[in-house]
Amino acid sequence: MIVALFAAFQLAVAPQTPGPLIVKDASRKVSVPLVESPSGPLVRPDHLRPVVPITVSHLTGDRWMLIIGGASIEVEEGVRFARVGEASFQLARAPEVRKGALYVPLQLVVELVPRIAGNLVWDVERFELRAFSATTRHEDRAVAQAGRVAAPAPREQMNDASSDERASRSVAVPASPIARGPLRSRRLVVVDAGHGGPDPGMRGPIGGGPRVSEKNITLAVAKRVGAALGQRGIDVKFTRTTDTLIALSDRGRIANEAHADLFVSIHVNAANPGWKTPGGARGFETYFLAEAKTEDARRVEQMENEVVKFETRTAARGGDPLSFLLNDMAQNEHLRESNELAELIQRRIGSVHPGPSRGVKQAGFRVLVTAFMPAVLVEIGFGTNASEASYMTDPNRMEELSSAVADGVLEYLKRYERRVAAGTGVGSAGGVARQ
Ligand SMILES: [Zn+2]
Repeated sequence: MIVALFAAFQLAVAPQTPGPLIVKDASRKVSVPLVESPSGPLVRPDHLRPVVPITVSHLTGDRWMLIIGGASIEVEEGVRFARVGEASFQLARAPEVRKGALYVPLQLVVELVPRIAGNLVWDVERFELRAFSATTRHEDRAVAQAGRVAAPAPREQMNDASSDERASRSVAVPASPIARGPLRSRRLVVVDAGHGGPDPGMRGPIGGGPRVSEKNITLAVAKRVGAALGQRGIDVKFTRTTDTLIALSDRGRIANEAHADLFVSIHVNAANPGWKTPGGARGFETYFLAEAKTEDARRVEQMENEVVKFETRTAARGGDPLSFLLNDMAQNEHLRESNELAELIQRRIGSVHPGPSRGVKQAGFRVLVTAFMPAVLVEIGFGTNASEASYMTDPNRMEELSSAVADGVLEYLKRYERRVAAGTGVGSAGGVARQ
């Protein structure tokens, strides 16, 4: 299969490449410049936006991740392979980083990306990458294929029906009622998938049903939240994209070093075994950083902070910075902003989640303490409850839930920009706008 794909790549990208690359859908057209390199043309993948909702994220070291509609392509600077899930794909040339931006071979954009996105066709004659809607896709694909000299290998060669499933899922997401205009400035949101590696987080459900681990749900949902934010024109950085443990203090540090505007941490709740019917507890809640107000908030705080026992001594040290930070003026500003962000996300989730809203709450999460920006932690449901465990692992429901979180973030950022424009904004609250 890999050999067949590689051959197709070589055919579909003509050696004499005209430029620029045209990326269009029914209403928009983007002209993407090609950058010549000794080994062939390179493209900045984030230039495909907004037609192709692609999120580019720098992982650790030389590794980068491109996310399109919940699926991801991993590449490494200087390495002529891309990874999609377990599969490796040979690249015609290695990705490069120039002035902090990732450039990938044109081949990856015109061949691999359409296979991942499901609703894109590459028309080599017109040098166009076209996005189509669900209703026109078959027609458009036929037209594109008819007018092409070298057709790419049929999608079936890639891997089964899952890309079709992805395509239909991405169009099934209901349109957001938020005003669709772009944000005034580029904003960066750090999306944090709770737990990971040796720390599985909670496990469930109580009393049978398919077993779930919090760390897997949080990762799958965080990736989708990132993709949904990308679709809304918001930049994203992930604290982790694999099953690995990041110290709680490092998660906030990642956000600070990236000068992010917001920090959103995704978690799965677990019932207190002491409750009358722990397996019956359901619902979602959103936390912002403050001193825990209720016993239940303290329980969740304790549970989510417990990961420290998996961390090395260096990573976990630092005492309890919460009391100090809460007295800090800037952090107080962030509290108000975090509270609003939490309210908006909680409300949005309420429009799709089958469980009850358990409200916006406060607790002293270490993961939020170190992020010097509005920060929230979302408990998307109870993994101890059988029906919520299956809800949170259903790809369609994950997609919906992630769109709801992204809509909450977008609404917050729009309100924030309006306040700033009206001169009532809090300067420190939304971070620094990017170019
Ligand atoms: Zn958790």
